[in-house]
Amino acid sequence: MIEIKDLHKSYQMGSNSLHVLKGINFSVKEGELVAIMGSSGSGKSTLLNILGMLDESDSGDYTLDGVEIKNLNETKAAKYRNKFLGFVFQSFNLINYKTAAENVALPLYYQGIKRKERIEKALKYLEQVGLRDWATHLPSELSGGQKQRVAIARAMAAEPKVLLADEPTGALDTTTSYEVMDLIQKINDQGNTILVVTHEEDIAHMCKRIVHLKDGVIMEDKVIEQVRAEQYV
Ligand code: ADP
Ligand code: MG
Repeated sequence: MIEIKDLHKSYQMGSNSLHVLKGINFSVKEGELVAIMGSSGSGKSTLLNILGMLDESDSGDYTLDGVEIKNLNETKAAKYRNKFLGFVFQSFNLINYKTAAENVALPLYYQGIKRKERIEKALKYLEQVGLRDWATHLPSELSGGQKQRVAIARAMAAEPKVLLADEPTGALDTTTSYEVMDLIQKINDQGNTILVVTHEEDIAHMCKRIVHLKDGVIMEDKVIEQVRAEQYV
């Protein structure tokens, strides 16, 4: 599903250059649930943003679902992003003046899906995350965990090939974090490919594989025994 080879990325700041990714190699197969671990500043978000086509590497190869991602103009990148990828962020990124259902339906508008089908799909995915009864509520009326579940419904409604989550539990308390991980595990159980960036050990162990980043390289990449979040919620 994802294949990257010898990926490098530096940030230029004036005359200084910060080499953040120093030759990353890894691949992700369909149906995997991978944690990208590492301390703050280790380049996790940089890597995820490149995988998400929100940023570009300086060198290296990236293939996503058989498509080589290279020198795409913004229109084409946006098209692939909509078609292949779903995003979940630490800060939820919901639109405050839109209801839960409208937030979930919005990306479907950009896919050219008709209004009636958008609403049906939005309600279906809200149902999947246990928030059907909250469809007409605004984000300000939802808890942090509920907001993140709306964000996950929004990402899944577009039926992406890969779901990319950058610290999805970073703004949540422990119990709520486990509820969100329980949902992520259940979505993965249905066969969806998911990458979760986290700096928390317990969250990483709820995935099926941990890729450990340190100083711009992969220190360790191992398959683990998945801890189920359900037992804690
Ligand atoms: P993580 O997500 O693991 O905390 P990041 O990928 O956000 O790490 O950042 C890795 C390093 O790159 C950090 O030192 C950070 O300060 C730096 N960095 C990230 N984005 C930029 C940017 N746009 N410009 C300059 N430096 C950046
Ligand atoms: Mg980060």
